[in-house]
Amino acid sequence: MTQNENHETHGDIKELMDAWHRQTEVVDRIRRAGGFKEMFAELDAETRAKMFANKDRRVGCIDEGCDECGIRVAGSGILFKPEDKARFIEILKKEGIKTVTYHDSCGAAGVASGSSDAETVLGAAKSFADEVAAGIGGEAVKLEHMSRPLDFHVASVVYYDGTGKFDPTAGAEFLAKGFVISRPLYPSAETAAAEARLSFDIAVGPHGYGKLVNEDHPFIIVVIGSPDDPEMSEEKLREEVALKFDGVSFARIESFTPPADEEEDVSQAA
Ligand SMILES: [Zn+2]
Repeated sequence: MTQNENHETHGDIKELMDAWHRQTEVVDRIRRAGGFKEMFAELDAETRAKMFANKDRRVGCIDEGCDECGIRVAGSGILFKPEDKARFIEILKKEGIKTVTYHDSCGAAGVASGSSDAETVLGAAKSFADEVAAGIGGEAVKLEHMSRPLDFHVASVVYYDGTGKFDPTAGAEFLAKGFVISRPLYPSAETAAAEARLSFDIAVGPHGYGKLVNEDHPFIIVVIGSPDDPEMSEEKLREEVALKFDGVSFARIESFTPPADEEEDVSQAA
């Protein structure tokens, strides 16, 4: 794979480098604190609670530009195998989710459609969102705001969230820009871990930071354990995600578990 070739041809290399410098500044600050776990522990209780108070019940993409799309799986499920799609729709129904979002420049829809044409990719994203919406008796909505440039990805982190309530916009000033995987929504550990790996492949590929991700600045998989669901514990999620990164250079797993009492306070307030 020739990394960064798109940036050179599109002439947006300066914009990419600016994004990279902003991102490494945050990542280096977290590193100096000791890591994501230590950074999180240093935050005040109110900020920590807010970071796990996602009340947006829409389903959206793992894309780091889809800040305001609620609960997240790649392309709102577009990459799932047929049997997983059926199971996913059942999970959405059980969760009472009525809205499915889709967006421009969706990497998952690009993979699913096998196209790099923007209109074709958007069409694939919309048609899948319509299909899921029909399955749950809800509606498909296009996400109008993207918090990244449409031409490339600016994430060098994926949040592998076992709580399903993680809201990266709430602690944006402390967090590195990252993909979000809402683990409880996935039909299996295999599909969720595969999408964590996809996020890495995007970040180190021609639509991401490419070769800027290296030994000194690795891609970080931030596993967030659930404090009250043993199926989504920090340890279990670390193990399942590690299987997809076996032998991968320039990727590192970190993890933490938010305190249970803060989560309870949040759900009572909801
Ligand atoms: Zn997407």
